[in-house]
Amino acid sequence: MNQSSLCFPDGQKSCFRCCPPVRAPGYDHYPHRLFLARELRDNTSRYDPADFSLKPITGFNCWALGYLDRKFKLVGCLLHPVQNGGRDLRGRIDYGHKCAREFCQEASIFDQLTADHRQFWLGLAEALDSFQYSSNLINPMFRVLNFGPGVLSAVAAHSGPESMADRELISTYPFLSMAAWPRSCAFLVEQIISGYGVPFLAGPEGLELINGLMNHLQTSLAAFLSPKRSSGRPYVHQLSLDRSLADFFRFGLNVSCLSQTEADTLGLQVRRLTAEWLSLPSNEQQVKSNEQPIMSNE
Ligand code: SF4
Ligand code: SF4
Repeated sequence: MNQSSLCFPDGQKSCFRCCPPVRAPGYDHYPHRLFLARELRDNTSRYDPADFSLKPITGFNCWALGYLDRKFKLVGCLLHPVQNGGRDLRGRIDYGHKCAREFCQEASIFDQLTADHRQFWLGLAEALDSFQYSSNLINPMFRVLNFGPGVLSAVAAHSGPESMADRELISTYPFLSMAAWPRSCAFLVEQIISGYGVPFLAGPEGLELINGLMNHLQTSLAAFLSPKRSSGRPYVHQLSLDRSLADFFRFGLNVSCLSQTEADTLGLQVRRLTAEWLSLPSNEQQVKSNEQPIMSNE
């Protein structure tokens, strides 16, 4: 059985968010949808599969992005090997090696889910067309997937294999649309799930629990961390660490570089403080979250 991918999820829509791979920072296709739809039709009708000449992209749109089906639902690369009998023609735009390499973090996380859990989370994007699906502004999957495979698998398993995620799931679990970037707190969400289970994440209380724990750790570790923000040490993502813990150091604690020993020590402290805080009654958690730094730099 063919597994769905984030790029081509269900035969009804496709993603072209990363085309072309060189884009203006923060660029999103969706606000330009009408213009783009016209351009895609032109690209598709002008495309000559017998032409192999080099034709570099000018500007931010690629002349090889077009419709892949007669109903104009699927948008994708006309030069991709799948469209050309196995021959990769993406080099024709002059930075084709970048196209071949392009695989976003969210697609890689999606690939780590089981087939059932992929189907579950695709429910968030079920009603979207290719333009909406390819948009960071519209498609919630590009945010939610950043909680990582551990959190996503646990929520999907808790919800049951028959169900599908939908917009209601986001109102049941408001943390899924929290203001903080998911990678900053995925580790904390994992800790809550492993200590208490998915139901503790439900409602505004779940969101408060995550924010309270984040405040507590940031405050408690402030004195320990401040001298370690200097460079000269390896990036935390190059160390032997769980991905979500490295993300928490970098995005939650704002520490990008640590030695392996410092990272191991910090990881132990984070786990200990987390376990202690989660074992407190909620009123004491609140008090702790507002306390001044408690950890020395010894
Ligand atoms: S942005 Fe990600 S999901 Fe979309 S086409 Fe590129 S690799 Fe696939
Ligand atoms: S050549 Fe294909 S993959 Fe590369 S930017 Fe153009 S449409 Fe996208």
